[in-house]
Amino acid sequence: MAETVPDPYSIDTLLAAAATGFGGAAVPPIVQTSLFTFDSYQAFEDRMAGRSADPLYTRVQNPTVAAFENLVAVAEEGEAAVGFASGMAAISSTVFAFVQPGDRIACVEHVYPDAYRLFERMLRPFGVEVSYHSAEAFQNDPDLLEGVKLAYLESPNSVVFQTMDLAAVAAHAKRHGTLTAVDNSWATPLFQRPLTLGIDIVIHSASKYLSGHSDTVAGVVIARADLINRIRDLTLTLLGGKLAPFEAFLLTRGLRTLGARMRQHQASANLFVDRLSCHPNVTAVMSPGPNMVPGLSGRSGLLSVELDESIDIPELADRLKLFRLGVSWGGFESLILPTRIGLRQAGEQNSMQRFGVSDRIVRLSLGLEDPNDLWADFEAALRTSARQ
Ligand SMILES: *Cc1c(COP(=O)(O)O)cnc(C)c1O
Repeated sequence: MAETVPDPYSIDTLLAAAATGFGGAAVPPIVQTSLFTFDSYQAFEDRMAGRSADPLYTRVQNPTVAAFENLVAVAEEGEAAVGFASGMAAISSTVFAFVQPGDRIACVEHVYPDAYRLFERMLRPFGVEVSYHSAEAFQNDPDLLEGVKLAYLESPNSVVFQTMDLAAVAAHAKRHGTLTAVDNSWATPLFQRPLTLGIDIVIHSASKYLSGHSDTVAGVVIARADLINRIRDLTLTLLGGKLAPFEAFLLTRGLRTLGARMRQHQASANLFVDRLSCHPNVTAVMSPGPNMVPGLSGRSGLLSVELDESIDIPELADRLKLFRLGVSWGGFESLILPTRIGLRQAGEQNSMQRFGVSDRIVRLSLGLEDPNDLWADFEAALRTSARQ
């Protein structure tokens, strides 16, 4: 179990200095084994009877994974954490651990598209009611959560990046006995720590900023020990979406530089927000920043821009030299994702189609390149893709 954050140290210091639990090893070894054997019959029986906590089997417990879990729990100021094979494994394992047929989930609008699909295509047929509400309604309506088992939140939410006052929502939830879960992938513990605002459960797609290097798909859940133990006993063990030791090793490596990376992403985002806000072809900039809501202390590099009709968006995307076209975000490389592509996605209705976003929006993930180079590239592409 993680220690709580000692007061005098900032998160940078904690992430750099925290020991891995492997003696003097600065970096945790990759314990690449499926099972752990016992020295004696008695030791084996003690473990199975719950009298010892020695590792048994990597689906449930692995020392390299535990090193990452402990570090992320320290960063989020949580009692405990559990790693998963993906952000979606973390989300689905959290929801299935706490929600039963007949229960109701209240979910924020513009939620991550695959979380929306999980609710609509798996939980609804399974007998769970799901309702969707604006970030504003969660914050301002104290009775919205009446009869709700789980409030599933993102602040900011996806694509349009609307924020809510998480402390206010947590207070409403406590009055109604509603469990609260927040996807904190956008802000990271560097810029927002929802558990300190009264939220029960924090979820990350660790594939994004926690990893930071676009080389890992992973997830993690941080909460009080009793909630994490329930997830471990039920959904980690029985659905089995565990984090692999090698991925955990990469994530620990990524976390060591989280602060330095987030401040660089923030510097680029600040520059973009300044320049975009007064650009003649820009009709809106969606990029929450420090103190826009209580508890948010920084601006990440993921933001959206709405462009006027004179900009040819496919042409803009093709003219950019430093921004690649693709999904995901939070890595070292800059990316552009036009909403037009999501709105034209084949198959069942997705969350962008359901909640409605303008097809004039492009989402940008600003990487670790020089902010001035990024702006020069974007500004030139805007100029050359404007119809006269
Ligand atoms: C990517 C993402 C997820 C899903 O994470 P995976 O690691 O891809 O499974 C969840 N929430 C948000 C906000 C995301 O951006």
